[in-house]
Amino acid sequence: MTYKNYPMVSRVVFGRGSFSQLDEILAPKRKGRNAPFIYYVDDVFKGNHWLTSRIMLSYRDKIIYVPTTEEPKTSQIDKYVEDIILEYSELPSGIIGIGGGIVMDIAKAVSLMLTNKGESKDYQGWDLIKNPAIYHVGIPTISGTGAEVSRTTILTGPERKLGINSDYTPFDQVILDPELTKNVPRDQWFYTGMDCFVHCVESLNGTYLNAFSQSYGEKAFELCQDIFLGDDLNEKEAQNKLMMASWHGGMSIAYSQVGVAHALSYGLSYLLGIKHGIGNCIVFDQLEEYYSEGVAMFKNMKEKHGIELPRGICEDLDDAEIDKMIDVAWSLEPLWENALGKNWQSKISRDKLMTLYKRM
Ligand code: NAD
Ligand code: ZN
Repeated sequence: MTYKNYPMVSRVVFGRGSFSQLDEILAPKRKGRNAPFIYYVDDVFKGNHWLTSRIMLSYRDKIIYVPTTEEPKTSQIDKYVEDIILEYSELPSGIIGIGGGIVMDIAKAVSLMLTNKGESKDYQGWDLIKNPAIYHVGIPTISGTGAEVSRTTILTGPERKLGINSDYTPFDQVILDPELTKNVPRDQWFYTGMDCFVHCVESLNGTYLNAFSQSYGEKAFELCQDIFLGDDLNEKEAQNKLMMASWHGGMSIAYSQVGVAHALSYGLSYLLGIKHGIGNCIVFDQLEEYYSEGVAMFKNMKEKHGIELPRGICEDLDDAEIDKMIDVAWSLEPLWENALGKNWQSKISRDKLMTLYKRM
């Protein structure tokens, strides 16, 4: 047995207002006038001076506002990389992502593709990246995905939705400033928060579980219960705790895996463009059979926060379309193996996936 030797985020700052230290953190990393810092910022912050005035641009540094109506595509990453190569004579000093999972994944992927030849679609998978990335920094403004700690960046390519999983993917620096999450809309807060909850349930109930994953998973699970079912947290405490729950949930799956909900959610996202957080909620709502305790808790959380999930989203799909979703879900072997064990193919069938999809 060889044990995996995982990379982690090398540096992290935590604290309300810590975003103001960004300039100080970046200054020693600047490689020269022609090696800019490129900031990818969620376009929800466009014109929001409270946040953007704290980004200190020097020389040829640049802010690129990123739309978040759709999850990142490999073609979009290739375009961002090409834009940088055409505009600058030197590689950037650093890539900084300020936003949710979408923007953080874009920052990770661009930093990897600047030093690895070819198209990003060719690196979707496990350990295909050859060269270290450019220095990259993640600054979450919404909590739950764990993208700030993970060794993946999830991209939709021409063939599939799959991460670039590599030892070079994790951020070199993360700034956890819970204050940045203060204006997240309620529904979105719930969906992205539930991504964290689902990570914990899938990790804690998976066959890959070990004491490392369990210790992080249990902590995140406990925090999620406090945040989504407790009554005595003020808003700031809830923001602080959810940011740490996201971190711990991400750490938990680092050394294990996600499971059934994520596999099916990837199918929904690929075919229907349904986003990760809400997609996980739609799927998880139907998974009593696999995660009975977690799903019961989820239903209580949904009720407590008055969340109504869309229904009948697969109603108008024909069998070929559902088949495509099943192909995407079915191909994610490590997720199924974690959820159901080595002989997972004897425990679930494509027909079963069809039934589940049709219920959503
Ligand atoms: P998101 O990036 O899709 O953002 C959701 C919405 O919240 C957007 O409309 C955004 O503008 C808004 N928003 C973000 N911060 C805000 C703020 N402070 N105030 C107001 N609005 C704000 O959300 P997400 O759920 O964090 O990320 C989902 C993405 O993350 C998906 O693309 C998914 O594939 C990816 N993901 C990656 C990993 C990983 O390990 N790399 C893990 C899970 C999910
Ligand atoms: Zn997730």
